[in-house]
Amino acid sequence: MGIQIYNSLSRQLEDFVPLNPEQVSIYSCGPTVYDYIHMGNARTALVTDIIRRYLEYRGHTVKLVQNLTDIDDKIINRAAELGITAKQLAYENGEAFFEDSQRLGIHPADVHPKATDHIPEMISLIQTLLEKKAAYIIDGSVYYRVNRFAAYGKLSNRKPEDLLAGARVEIDERKEDPRDFDLWKAAKPGEPSWQSPWGEGRPGWHIECSAMAMKHLGTTLDIHVGGEDLRFPHHENEIAQSEMATGCTFARYWVHIAFLNIDGRRMGKSEQNFILLRDALDNYPTEVIRHFLISAHYRHPLDYNRESLMKSDGAFRRLSNCLDTLKKYDGQEEGDTATSPLQHAIQEMRSQFTAAMDTDFNTAQALGAIFTLVSKVNRSLSAPNETPPLVLAQAYRALTETCQVLGIYDTEARNSDGDNVEQRDHLINFLLEIRQDARSRKDWDTSDKIRDRLKQLNIEIQDTREGATWKIVS
Ligand code: AMP
Ligand code: ZN
Repeated sequence: MGIQIYNSLSRQLEDFVPLNPEQVSIYSCGPTVYDYIHMGNARTALVTDIIRRYLEYRGHTVKLVQNLTDIDDKIINRAAELGITAKQLAYENGEAFFEDSQRLGIHPADVHPKATDHIPEMISLIQTLLEKKAAYIIDGSVYYRVNRFAAYGKLSNRKPEDLLAGARVEIDERKEDPRDFDLWKAAKPGEPSWQSPWGEGRPGWHIECSAMAMKHLGTTLDIHVGGEDLRFPHHENEIAQSEMATGCTFARYWVHIAFLNIDGRRMGKSEQNFILLRDALDNYPTEVIRHFLISAHYRHPLDYNRESLMKSDGAFRRLSNCLDTLKKYDGQEEGDTATSPLQHAIQEMRSQFTAAMDTDFNTAQALGAIFTLVSKVNRSLSAPNETPPLVLAQAYRALTETCQVLGIYDTEARNSDGDNVEQRDHLINFLLEIRQDARSRKDWDTSDKIRDRLKQLNIEIQDTREGATWKIVS
């Protein structure tokens, strides 16, 4: 069996067959860079990263494009509040996004296009739509004529009357049909704008993604990824624009990622209930956050709470203790394996991992397979000489290879300085203990001295209600 993907368009599991076997193309709707990203955005970015890593694990070459929306109302309004330009705000948050993604171990996309670098492509796409009478101009703004695209609603599976109800929220008397949406917004005083055949203005949000996706991946791409909030209207509109303009299928598989919730509500900027990814990364190791974010299948909602993170923390410790112990067997070439039950368990884990990930990237089940083997390895290790070293070496390889796909155990970092890192962590924790003792004696001099000396070594201590934590700062 090969990979199957749940396609939001057909609402069923489909065999994954890339259009071009040489290269799978993926487009993922990236962040609107008006602020730092939160854990909800991180879930979507991480799932994209894992889809890419798994396709590569299965032998595919992947081209991933993830855009940055660097011009829109939220950016313009936030920049005005802060008294800086929209360009400056978008630049700073774009850099912060790359920094946060890197800290979460997300491999950079092959291309990270910015909307403002693709204005000519957007203008040309709008021009094609105007030529096809699928768009019209009113007072320097251009609107998409939904009526011209018979398949409108096929992704969100909405009936015309539902589409109307949704669209009426933003009634604009000038539009021919309430469902029509803007491709180009005529300039308003003080807002950033670009020249176009219809006058000064800026692109609408939906056309940005169509133009960037098709510029970098061609008229038809394999997989289009985004959070489930984007299914309608954003992705419905991307399809309408792109397919009307080219006459080709725009994206063959649509993947929508369920929300990360907090207290049962979607985590979001507008909800004021968000946890920034960078704050979470200050409090938990990268692997713990990754483990937590993939502990549910991506089509199921996931609730952010301390308990779940603590569970992931425990799981990560179990895993890293097991692998740190197994590491010494790595490279073992000789020995008898025939009698070891662990060898069977290794094969079982590999095939369960693949079956889980093949079935619409089911990371929750894949983790289950990995941790079942961890328990079995731990049992073998507690019975000395029972398991041949060669089998333990095989267990190490099977676990590190699969964990690498999920990014929950960074073998390279651990191999290059694994022992040193562990020793360093123990030493810092020991110093924090001494500092805590000093503080309970009200010996502030010693406490401050430890903090200041560590600071000189780029190790920053933070005192929290749950005790002191530390992080390496660059
Ligand atoms: P935004 O910056 O709001 O445009 O969002 C960037 C990406 O994160 C989009 O693909 C959104 O669908 C996704 N996203 C936003 N909030 C959440 C959430 N609570 N859970 C999962 N994905 C989200
Ligand atoms: Zn998009």
